[in-house]
Amino acid sequence: MKVERQYQVCSRCVMDTSDPEIDFDDVGVCSHCHKFDAETSKNWFPGKDGEQRLSVICDGIRKEGKNQEYDCIMGLSGGIDSSYLALKIKDYSLRPLVVHVDGGWNSELAVHNIERVVDYCGYDLHTQVIQWGEMRDLQVAYLRSGIANQDAPQDHAFFAALYKFAVKNRIRYVISGGNIATESVFPGAWHHSAMDLDNLMAIHKRFGTAPLRTFPLMSFSQYYFYFPFIRKMRTVRPLNYMAYDKNEALGYLKGRIGYKDYGRKHGESIFTKFFQNYYLPKKFGYDKRRPHLASQVLSGQMGRDEALLLLEQPLYDSHELVEDKTYIAKKLRISVEELDALSTPPGKDYAEYKNWDRKYMAVKKAQQLVEQFSRKRIGNYS
Ligand SMILES: [Zn+2]
Repeated sequence: MKVERQYQVCSRCVMDTSDPEIDFDDVGVCSHCHKFDAETSKNWFPGKDGEQRLSVICDGIRKEGKNQEYDCIMGLSGGIDSSYLALKIKDYSLRPLVVHVDGGWNSELAVHNIERVVDYCGYDLHTQVIQWGEMRDLQVAYLRSGIANQDAPQDHAFFAALYKFAVKNRIRYVISGGNIATESVFPGAWHHSAMDLDNLMAIHKRFGTAPLRTFPLMSFSQYYFYFPFIRKMRTVRPLNYMAYDKNEALGYLKGRIGYKDYGRKHGESIFTKFFQNYYLPKKFGYDKRRPHLASQVLSGQMGRDEALLLLEQPLYDSHELVEDKTYIAKKLRISVEELDALSTPPGKDYAEYKNWDRKYMAVKKAQQLVEQFSRKRIGNYS
């Protein structure tokens, strides 16, 4: 007899059985909490020593790039993480080339915030505008594929463009806003890597209608070998070397540069908001606020009760949802009815389309063997 799995919420964070791979220990603490403890003991320095460590890393970056126009590169979306990061690395006198990838979904506020950050810091901004016809074709293909990660076209283009700019400008250091404080909990089962070009091409081949001629793409070998080993690129995550608190960061940005809060309105990308607050919960039952709030609970930015209360709030204001659906459907040149139908269960598994999983497993295995043999950890993150 099949035993139905009971609904359960972690007793320490707020993750629950909407993650099919979650496990709980005897006192009801989930596997994400245990992973958080293991991870933070190695890579998270929110105290005074973090400042010193980051200072040493930044000294190295400045020294290496002293004869170059830029010593590092960073992506700027206009969101709180990357905006705050841009201001922080100015304190360490880094000279980044700032890249913004415009996938066609920028909200007006995002444009304002990007301008404010760049003006204040005096950075050079390079905006890469993705050819809209190709972006649209790929996004409609993704919607028709029915898989979970509808942000893959935007995310893939962002990283591919960023890495290519870095190579072109002979920059080795990528400064990333990725951080443990707000992003440590991530249910891997919820969606597949946006870097998987095999998956992207398979979906486009099946559902796309026009060739991708200029869309920034990055292959498996570029991602795993060329950038880290041939170009020796390194990713640095400065927000892991400070007590990063999203609300405090927002206050800081407002005070310093007149940053405008997205509030309950659109985030920096209108499509991402729709994808996270409507498509994913409706089609797959995934609420992205949950891992995000769980991360904030674990990093001490928020109490568990407050996070649970926030999760009770509706994902979308109903009027705003109608507005957004109409806007998105029109921009993608599909009907609102089709957009609705494509957002309805059942969802499809990405693995129904060609993907890089076998290659990835082979590389991971080889990496483990080399690590065992050399007793060194291989990775490109600092
Ligand atoms: Zn937990």
